[in-house]
Order: sequence, then structure tokens, then C-alpha cells
Amino acid sequence: MQPFRTLRGRLIALVAALLALVIGGVAIVSTRVVHKEIRRIEIRTRGAHPLPPFPPVGTQPPARTVDVWFFWIFVVAAAVGVLLAVVIARWTTRPILRLTAATRRMEQGDLTVRVIPAGGLELAELAQSFNAMAAALDRNEELRRRMVGDVAHELRAPLTNIRCELESIQDGLTQPTRERIESLHEEAMHLTRLVDDLQDLALAEAGKLELAPERVMLATLVHRAATALESQARAHAVQIVVAGEDLVVIADPRRTVQILGNLLTNAVTHMQQPGEVRVTWERSGEEAVVKVIDQGVGIAPADLARIFERFYRVDASRSRATGGAGLGLSIVRQLVAAHGGRVWAESEVDQGSTFAFTLPLA
Ligand code: ADP
Repeated sequence: MQPFRTLRGRLIALVAALLALVIGGVAIVSTRVVHKEIRRIEIRTRGAHPLPPFPPVGTQPPARTVDVWFFWIFVVAAAVGVLLAVVIARWTTRPILRLTAATRRMEQGDLTVRVIPAGGLELAELAQSFNAMAAALDRNEELRRRMVGDVAHELRAPLTNIRCELESIQDGLTQPTRERIESLHEEAMHLTRLVDDLQDLALAEAGKLELAPERVMLATLVHRAATALESQARAHAVQIVVAGEDLVVIADPRRTVQILGNLLTNAVTHMQQPGEVRVTWERSGEEAVVKVIDQGVGIAPADLARIFERFYRVDASRSRATGGAGLGLSIVRQLVAAHGGRVWAESEVDQGSTFAFTLPLA
């Protein structure tokens, strides 16, 4: 049965069966023609040479007997051939029909549909590819659903705050004081950041994030990011210390500052008490390894495995208070990957965390 495990083997068997039929048919027809010819010669030459005596009455001449045998062999061969062809055709097409039905169900929105890999090596492989594709579509659909839910959830809180504040001012219950307007502005800024982050993430995930890489001193970018975070660090009584050798990297300056900004914001906001956040960098082969090290709350191993996921927050209520939607590290991961680098984290609860990423050296 080994040759029939492949579609090609089955088709060859089918063609062979048909060929056998045709050859059998031709052989029989030609035998009949030859026999007829022999009989004609026999009749024509009967006068010249005395013929051997006829067989006893009731028995057929040998040529007729052969004819009849060949006729029945042909009939049986034809029947067996047709039967074989039908069986092989059904055997070959059944898995294809099953796949077609599954594709139709998927077209109608059923992404849970799977087919049993069967019907020869090629068809079994096709079925496996179909199942893998269905599983990927199902996973993506689930991610999309979750993403829409998460976005709605993130937008709801600031929008509710803004609406409640405005309604209470409208109803004359509160006055539009400077603090209230500042708080409204803060919520609007939070929404803007969220929408910007979502857009960055969507572009990066679609591979459409446009980078403008150039040769640039790594120290310049780190200093730029640290300066932007200075007042926030001061508010937390944290000092940002930067130290590293002279390295030139190939990177998009704006996006690299964004990576550093996200990591530094996290480091500063997760410090428990006054202290230092260090940014260091060094050469490692063809790459520069940049580390952002804090002495903050740290991250438990179970959370550490998930912090780069979209919308994942270790402590949702506290993170919301600091303005985070759990998108910062997903964006960092996408931006680093767009530069051809890697990012990882090490942490110990109550000791601090180290976030590291690589950039290609010039
Ligand atoms: P967010 O924008 O909400 O901060 P991130 O994606 O940047 O989201 O971070 C995901 C989670 O990882 C956060 O909820 C935060 O608790 C945790 N995290 C990130 N950086 C640190 C850090 N340096 N120390 C402790 N926890 C951190």
C-alpha cells in the first residue's frame, strides 16, 4: 500500500488501471481480427489442401473458444478496472471534499473548524497547513477582540472623569477653578498619550513603523532622555545617573529616546524611596547593550514573564494612578525589534529591576 500513500501514487495507479483496460481491449480486438483472417484463409484454401477432420458435433472450433474466453476476460477486466477507478477516485477526492467543506465553514465565520489529516502524504500535509492557518486566524481574532475590549476599558476611565467634571460645572455644582481645568487637561493628555501609544503599537505590529536610522552617539541619546525625565525624577527624589563608553550606534534618535524615556519613567515611578536610577551601556560583539537599573519595588517572576504583553499591568489600580495603560513596555519591545535588537528584564522583589536592550553598533 506504500505507493498509494501519496496522491501521485494514486493517480499513477488510476492511470495504470485505465491503461490496462485499453491495452486489454486492443489485444482482444486485434485477436478477433487475426482469428477472422485465419478462418478466411482456411475457407479459401480448403479446396487446395485437405483439411483436418472437423471436431465432433457439439464442440466449438478452437478459434471460437479463444474468442469467447478473450471476450469474457475483457468484460471482467473492464468491470474490475471501472470499479478500481471509482474506488481510487473516491479515495482521492474524499479528503479534498472534506477540506472544501471546512473552508466554507471558515468563510462563514467558524474559526474553530479543523480537519483530520488523511488521504495521502500531500493531502495530509495540506490538511495540517489548513489547521495551522485556522489556529492562527482563531488566535488573531481572539487577540483583536481582547484588544478592542482593552482599548474601550482604557478610554472609559478618563472619558468618564472628563464628562463628570464638565457636567458638574454645567449644572453649577462646581466652579471651573484653575485646579479643575488642570485636572481636565491632565485627563485629556492621558487620552492623547494612550491614542499615540496605540497608534505606535499598531504601526509597529503591522511592520509599518518608519524609522530614520542614523549614526549617532549613544551618550547623546541617553542624556537627552535623562534630561526630559529630570523634573519627574526630582519629584520622586530620584537621581538619574548615566555612565558608559563612547559608542556610535545606528538608530533612529527620536525612537531611541522614546525607548529610554519609557524605561526611565517606569524606573523612576517604581522607586519606593529616594535613590538612584542608573543608565549604563557597553559594547558586546556587534551590539551595544543599554541597561536601565533601578532600586525600586521589583517584579515577581510570574509578572516578569508577562510585562511585555499589551495592556499587562502588575498592579492595575496603582499603574492607572501613574498614568500607565500597560502599553509602555510593548512599545519598547516593538521599537527595539524594529531596530533589530532584543529587550529583556531581570528583577527581584523589593530589590529593584534591570531592563536591558541592544542596538546595532555603527
Ligand atoms: P505602564 O505604561 O502601565 O507602566 P508598562 O508596559 O510600561 O505599562 O509596564 C507594565 C507593567 O510592568 C507595569 O504595570 C509595571 O507595574 C511593571 N513595571 C514596568 N517597569 C517596572 C519597573 N522598573 N519596576 C517595577 N515594575 C515595573
